[in-house]
Amino acid sequence: MTNKVRLKVKPAYAKKMKAGYPLIAEDAIMNKKELKVEGTFIELVDEQGQFIGQGYYGKQNKGLGWVLSRSPREVIDGKFFKTKIKKALDDRAAFFEDADTTAFRVFNGEGDGIGGVTIDYFDGFYLINWYSEGIYRFKDEIIDSLRTLTDVKGIYEKKRFAKKGMYVEDDDFVTGERAQFPLIVKENGIHFAIYLNEGAMVGVFLDQRDVRKAIRDQYAEGKRVLNTFSYTGAFSVAAALGGAVKTTSVDLANRSRSKTEEHFTINGIDYEEQDIIVEDVFNYFKYAVRKQLKFDMVILDPPSFARSKKHTFSAEKDYTALLEQAIQITEENGLIVASTNCSTFGMKKFKGFIEKAFNKTGETYKILREFTLPEDFKITSEFKEGNYLKVAVIQKTT
Ligand code: SAH
Repeated sequence: MTNKVRLKVKPAYAKKMKAGYPLIAEDAIMNKKELKVEGTFIELVDEQGQFIGQGYYGKQNKGLGWVLSRSPREVIDGKFFKTKIKKALDDRAAFFEDADTTAFRVFNGEGDGIGGVTIDYFDGFYLINWYSEGIYRFKDEIIDSLRTLTDVKGIYEKKRFAKKGMYVEDDDFVTGERAQFPLIVKENGIHFAIYLNEGAMVGVFLDQRDVRKAIRDQYAEGKRVLNTFSYTGAFSVAAALGGAVKTTSVDLANRSRSKTEEHFTINGIDYEEQDIIVEDVFNYFKYAVRKQLKFDMVILDPPSFARSKKHTFSAEKDYTALLEQAIQITEENGLIVASTNCSTFGMKKFKGFIEKAFNKTGETYKILREFTLPEDFKITSEFKEGNYLKVAVIQKTT
């Protein structure tokens, strides 16, 4: 880790990078051929050789690595990582103190000063997501920091640096004691069953916490709720706890049935009274339209990109069409909770999709509330695309 490569930033990118943009984009660099081994330190300079920042080489879909410091003299060592992680933990003090919430993000990549790594907390256990081989070379420093700064029962990891940022299949246990699975965590009093060692996804997406709370506390009472792309049914559980008369969860994955049943059960809800359907959402929509089914709330939270046997879905291209289908089966004055985690477009464009879908179906609407990432998913104003989550609670008006 002693070697350092000096990279020249193209003039067109220098201004933005000097202003604090943390991602070292492939297009921004004139001499990227000099990069050989991931984890190598990088010094960024402009065309005149003036210092811009220093960071590391770690290839991920977003670029060649991340700026870690804007000071030429700062040493990137164990102490550096420890300082960043300490600040991140301190910033989440309120979460650690909240007995009703035992699952949240403690370190959010560039938002907390180190791009390429996130750390989530699950009731005493920590899950580290490594987004490049480059950041993985700092594993010892990061894990040592965590263990000396806070009480750690055990640590698990996800290596997300196979081709195209895919997860590397492995035993994800790293150190400490192994957790008993399911690890039951709480989120605003809702229970979730977490499996830290069963592939890339652990059972719940923590970034939707505020949305689940709003569904439970404000929107679900008395409603017939359709939850599409339901995964482990987290939104359905929130709705049922909030007094929904019935929830219908639809997901293509076989595992979604047992996981959703489990989530209902650990929250004291009889899953026999809920509908859990393992099916392609797009087929289900056709069926629902044909049967003239209506729901008072339809939740849409598709992946940014998905391929099933018959459909390819891309949020950027197909969200409008998805909304059109949802609008058709939403009751007058009913709600559509439209969500996307696609980072290639922002809220403005997302609202454009909503506008277009309602225009096309000849219906009117009102956006009641919008959500972006919650507080623990810290973001930096210099990296707008880091704020990927967009959720709109839309009312179909008459
Ligand atoms: N809304 C969920 C997260 C969704 S993750 C939550 O809040 O927890 C995306 C899910 O979409 C996955 O479970 C995947 O199986 C499902 N999926 C992808 N394509 C689908 C399709 N065409 N029909 C139904 N489910 C699909």
